[in-house]
This record gives sequence, structure tokens and C-alpha cells, in this order.
Amino acid sequence: MEKLPFERPFIKKLSSGMPSKFGIKMEFDPITEIDGFPVKDLIGQYGSPLFVLSESCIRKTYQEAYRVFSTRYPKVQFAWSYKTNYLDAVCRVYHQEGAWAEVVSGFEYDKALANGVDGKFIIFNGPDKSKGDLEKAVRNDSLIHIDHFDELYTLMEVGDQLKKKPKVAIRVNMDTGIYPMWDRFGFNYENGEAWDAINRIMMAGKFDLSGLHTHIGTYILSASAYQVAASKLAELAVGLERKYDHSIRYIDLGGGFASQNTLKGAYLPGSDTVPSFDEYADAITSGLINSQIKPTNMPVLILETGRALIDDAGYLAGTVLANKRLADGRRSTILDIGVNLLFTSFWYEHQITPAQPFSQHTEETAIYGPLCMNIDVLRENVVFPLLKKGDHVVVSRIGAYNMTQWLQFITYRPNVVLIDPENKTHIIREHETLKIFETLEKIPDHLKTINL
Ligand SMILES: *Cc1c(COP(=O)(O)O)cnc(C)c1O
Repeated sequence: MEKLPFERPFIKKLSSGMPSKFGIKMEFDPITEIDGFPVKDLIGQYGSPLFVLSESCIRKTYQEAYRVFSTRYPKVQFAWSYKTNYLDAVCRVYHQEGAWAEVVSGFEYDKALANGVDGKFIIFNGPDKSKGDLEKAVRNDSLIHIDHFDELYTLMEVGDQLKKKPKVAIRVNMDTGIYPMWDRFGFNYENGEAWDAINRIMMAGKFDLSGLHTHIGTYILSASAYQVAASKLAELAVGLERKYDHSIRYIDLGGGFASQNTLKGAYLPGSDTVPSFDEYADAITSGLINSQIKPTNMPVLILETGRALIDDAGYLAGTVLANKRLADGRRSTILDIGVNLLFTSFWYEHQITPAQPFSQHTEETAIYGPLCMNIDVLRENVVFPLLKKGDHVVVSRIGAYNMTQWLQFITYRPNVVLIDPENKTHIIREHETLKIFETLEKIPDHLKTINL
């Protein structure tokens, strides 16, 4: 048997109690208000369930991430990952802070334009860009990140037709020690495909190869994976300098930083185990500054951080519908928050907190949503205080991916409210109504009347 490599032991402070066999101890306070607004009043005014976003938290987290990276590297640019949360008001907060737009579809591209983002500041990623999308992106001088050879050839045609040199980067996938490897997107580094794509682009003479891109995965708990990724992209940049005397303008490390949510099955809460922005930034900037890229040609570092920038700013407030006992005697609490609204509950143990003072008498509880579906489980088994029908709860850290991946299923999607830094509330997305669905659906003539 091979000897395992030595790993230096380290001590990390834990901010909460160690879990017992029943999980984390119930030593927490209720969340009675969000940014100074009583949860009860928010629900009274805007209904239940209710998505609430804190603009102050969005800005604070963004500024902190920017500070951490820009103090370690001279040229840093964030691009907001639209698919993480593309409510226009949210995107505009990031754009006001200076973030470009990172989009992965024609729909998101149009949304970014409609939000007032100049095409030059839109990064177009993803495997699904239609010819029409590519034409629009070339006309607008957007940064097109090529995902596969078919796209490269289509883009060559588009450039010829428009008599323009598209500004491109290639997406590179690679082994960074994170498995399963996300090798379905972009060109592989280790097998030489990435270099092959670079040679084809350079030899064609029809592109402006502006950058190199990777997005190694999401919720990446290992900061060092980013150092590997940055080094590998830097290697490609060095190869370009050597072979073509061509300097790229940026290296884009994608997104993937973990938020502080706790993954299902994790022993310790995410807030104790997730790397900080500082750790990710140290890894990435070490990879870049210790590379052989000439100091005069250091590329702009682009980051497409999604999850880690917005998760903490989002809350989902809801109401207890009922309590009941399961056949095995276990208590269950039914909320008006279902997995249709909380898509991330399929992989996170979301923190659900009462919104009013609660008793310290706790019991193992299954927390269910309101859907008439067996899969509608928010927490399989959690030590939870007894709440009454009509009591409110708050699910924290839900700003990422829920307001884009939510499903319209059985019920309407509710209001989304933004609390601004002056502590005013704004509806930024109205709850759905029957009317919305009636405008989309069409009834064939022979089904117009029914006769029961
Ligand atoms: C989804 C995505 C992101 C954002 O990822 P997070 O894990 O939310 O940080 C960034 N870049 C690309 C290409 C993506 O697909």
C-alpha cells in the first residue's frame, strides 16, 4: 500500500457548539427582523411566503470581495453571474458597484442589455449560443467564450459575414483535483485540446483572442484548486506569448466559491468549513503572480462569482400551516414554503429559524412544504422548537439560484421584496396571478365550452 502524503495539522476556531448525535444544539436566537424590518410586518404587508433581499448585504459582500482581490492583484474585474439571480433590480445593484455581466443564454444576454450594460462589458458563456445570439454579441463587441469547436466554426462564419473580428476567449476545463471534473464545458487542458483550439484560433487570423476562461465547478471547498486552475491558464498565456508573441488581456477564473450554507450530509456547518474570500484570493493570485507571464503583460483577473456574493443577502420568510405526528410518532411541521421555491433544499441543509421568540423545548422534527408531493421536504430531521400554526419562520442564505431555478408548481410564485440601504422596501418582482397564466395559455376552439 502506498504511504499517504503527510498533511500539516491545523487548528481552526469553531464558532458554534459541536454537534451531538442529534445535530447542532439549539442555541440560536429567533430572526425577528431583516434589516430592521419585523418579519411579521413584512409578511403582513407583502404576503407569505415572501422572498426578501438585503441590498446592504449585497453591496457589503461585493465590496468586501472586491477589496480582498484588489489588494492582492492590480487589475480585478467582477462580472455578475446572471443565472445565480437575474432579477433586474439585483443585477443593477451589482452593475452600480462596477460588476460586468456574465450570461449563458440569449435570454440572459438580452436582460443584460436591457439593464443598460454596454455589450463590451458582457461576457457570453455557455454551450448554447445560437447563430443569432453570436451575431448580436459580435456586433456589440461582447466577450464570447467559446465552448466547443462547432461554436468556433460558426463564429468564424459570423465574423466573416459581419466583417468583424470577434473578441473571444476559450473556456478551458482541467484537472484541479476536484472530482467529478467538469469536463463537459470547454476544451480540455491535459489532453491538449485547449492548446489545439488556441492554435486554430490564432492561425485562422479571424479572431481577437482576448482572454482565457475556466469555471471549475460550484461550491468548491478547496481554495488550492483555484491555484492549480490559475497556474494552468497562465501556462497557456505563456505559450501564447512564446509562440505567437500575443498577450491576452484577461484571465477569467469563473465562479464556484462556496457560500456558507451547509451541504447535506456534512458533519460541520458550512460557516465553519467554507474557505474565506481571502483564502480563494491568495490561491488565485499566487497562481498568477508566480507564473512566467511577463510582469508588464499581467492580464486583468476576471471573477464570475455568483453564489458566494449573494447567498447571504436572501431570505425566504414563511408561515407554519400545521403540526402533525407521523406514523412513527415523530413530529412534523408543515410550512407554506415548498421545494418549488427553494430549489437549493435538494443539496443544502437550510437553516430554518423561528421569526418570534420560541421555547427551548425541542424535538426532532421533519419540516415539510405545502405541496401535495412526497418530495416536498425541507429538512428530513432537525432538532426544532415547537411552533404554532400561524407562527413565522425565516430560511436564511437563499439568495443564490432560488429566484432563478424556482418552479411554478401547484402554487404561484410569491412577491420578492428588496430592502434598500435607507431601509425602504420595494417589490422587485410581483407575485404571480391567474391572469399571468391566462395570457400564455391558448384554448383551441373545440375546447372552449365544457358541459358537465
Ligand atoms: C454558474 C456560473 C458561474 C457562477 O458560479 P457560482 O458557483 O455561483 O459562483 C460563473 N461562471 C459560469 C460560466 C457559470 O456557469
